[in-house]
This record gives sequence, C-alpha cells and structure tokens, in this order.
Amino acid sequence: MTPMDELEEDEFPLISVVVPAYNEEEVLPALFPRLYAALDALERSYQVIFVDDGSRDRTASLLREQYDRRPTQTNLVCLRTNAGQHAAILAGFNYSTGRHVITLDADLQNPPEEIGKLLEKLEAGHDYVGTIRRERRDSWWRDWASKVVNRLRERITNIHMTDQGCMLRGYSRDIIDAILESEESNTFIPALAYLYSGNPVEVVVEHEERVAGDSKYPLHKLIQLNFDLMTGFSLVPLQLFSITGFLLSVLSLLFVVFLVVRRLLIGPEVGGVFTLFAILFFLIGIMLFGIGLLGEYVGRIYVQAQGRPRYLLRRVVRQQREDAIPAVIEDDADMKELA
Ligand code: UDP
Ligand code: MG
Repeated sequence: MTPMDELEEDEFPLISVVVPAYNEEEVLPALFPRLYAALDALERSYQVIFVDDGSRDRTASLLREQYDRRPTQTNLVCLRTNAGQHAAILAGFNYSTGRHVITLDADLQNPPEEIGKLLEKLEAGHDYVGTIRRERRDSWWRDWASKVVNRLRERITNIHMTDQGCMLRGYSRDIIDAILESEESNTFIPALAYLYSGNPVEVVVEHEERVAGDSKYPLHKLIQLNFDLMTGFSLVPLQLFSITGFLLSVLSLLFVVFLVVRRLLIGPEVGGVFTLFAILFFLIGIMLFGIGLLGEYVGRIYVQAQGRPRYLLRRVVRQQREDAIPAVIEDDADMKELA
C-alpha cells in the first residue's frame, strides 16, 4: 500500500496531464486555451503538470503566468538544465498524483481534444493506452526513418507498438509508480510502460503540424533516442553480433582448410591480393560495428554506474492540497528570484 492509498481519494485529481516544454515560447500561448478547454470539457478533476526542461527562452515565465491564472489546476516543475524530453516527463510523473496520467507534447502536434479518447480506455480498465497517428504530419524523411526504425524495433524487442513516435499516451497510476521505481538513466517511457502493462490498448489519434517554432529533436538526438530504445530494451543486437562472429569463424576455418589442402596438392597460390583485401575490409567493418555496438551497451552501464540524477530541479510551484493555500515550494536557493 503506497502512502497515497491511505489518503482520501478525492483529495487528488482524477487526471494528471504531464507536458514537457523546451524553448516553446512560441507555442505556449496557443496551447493554454486549447488544453484547459479540452480538459474542462471532460468534467473530471485534473491537474496539468508543466515541466520546463531548462529552456533558455521565456518558457518558464509563460508557464508561471499560466500557473497564476489556474493555480488549483496547474503544477510547474522547472529543471535547471536541459535533461531531455523523457527525463522531463519523469520529473513531471514524480509530482503527478492523478489516478490516470496523460502525456502530451507542448507543440500542439497532439490535439488535447483527443485526451477524452485515452481517458475512456483508462476508465475501462486498461493500464496503458498507446496511440497511432492517423495521418502523420512531419517531414517526409522523419516519417520514412521512423517507419524503418519502428520495424527494426518491432523485431528485436518484445515491445509491440504500432507507432512508437507519438507521445500522447495514457498510463494508470500503477504503471507510473512502476516507471518511477525503475532507475534507468536513459529510457523511453512508452516502451517501459508497455513492458509493465498487463492490459495495454492502442487508439487512433489525430496528428497536427507544429503550430510554431522548430522541432527540438535534431538528428543526433533522434539517433540517440533510438539507440536507447534498441539497446535499453533488447540484447538481440549483441546476440546477432555473436552469431555473425561465430558464422564468420566457421567460414574462415573452412577457407583455411581449403588453402592448406590446395597448397599441398597444387602448391602455393599467388595473385588474388585484392580479393583478400576486400574480404579483410569487410571483416574489419563488421568488427568495428561490433565494437561500436558493444560500446553502446558499455556506455549504458557506465552512465548507470555513475548514478547521476536524471534531472536537476530548479523550482517546483504548486498548491499545497491540505490547506488549499497557494504555496510555492522551493527546492533550490536561487528559486526565490522568480517566485
Ligand atoms: N522537449 C523537451 N526536452 C527536449 C526536447 C523536447 O522537453 O530536450 C519537448 C518539447 O518541448 C515538446 C516535446 O518534447 O513538447 C516534443 O518535442 P518536439 O515537438 O520538438 O519533437 P518532435 O515532435 O519534432 O518529435
Ligand atoms: Mg513535435
């Protein structure tokens, strides 16, 4: 029994909506009215938890203004540095108290009006609601690369997500608690949730173009995220590599036997130097790939062993429920400046 169970249920909102935002000053003014209107329309108690992921623009102050407009329904978690979307979401999860938790991008690519669809499934008893974008609105190369990676991930992990990219998702409290207990450094939240879920379901949702600003995922961050997904959830790449190594050694052995026999029967061979080089380069390529792959896993262990915090808090702004008096909870000395 968690401490939360002991408290009165109605002290907590039914739904927590976690929204990470990194340099999103251009989209937030459009997000606020749509998000709160969509949530009001659900006629359930809710809290929105904005996580400012170490933004360097006006994101933090815009979020603060929104908190002042809707203090009872808004929590604000500000991180000191840019921890990345998934770490930011974890920070938000940590402050969420709702029985159902929804994650949503700040850029309005996930229409807030779709939250009702996810809620319906959560209320029907599903502990994880994945989403499939009906028509994806991203650049063609993102769309294409994501299809390839999606298929690859489907094969090497046991995680079956039709569409891994959409972050509009729903989780039950149990899954959130299980995710918070996992101390993985670089993780992919929907995959982790799927792993823990006993009763997952997927729904089709709309997808829109980013209302303003640019994607916060440059190519290298996307690649890193997908490496995390592959190596964080599967040992198949390592096993494939061992199998390849094994097959190659068998072939090489046969080749050596052939050369020895040939030398005894016909005499030493000449020529064919470039063929040999080609074979050698191919093998060196495979070896380098293997070392790199091993490095990915070792790197994960290294980061994990360092045990550094996944994110650093700058400040948390929320109401204290017991007395319902607006209170700013300060987690850092330099918080006072803004509070
Ligand atoms: N985001 C974040 N930290 C980051 C990168 C992104 O909190 O380091 C947030 C971003 O503000 C947005 C969501 O994650 O709310 C998805 O990012 P984005 O829209 O840039 O990704 P894309 O839709 O291009 O995949
Ligand atoms: Mg986006």
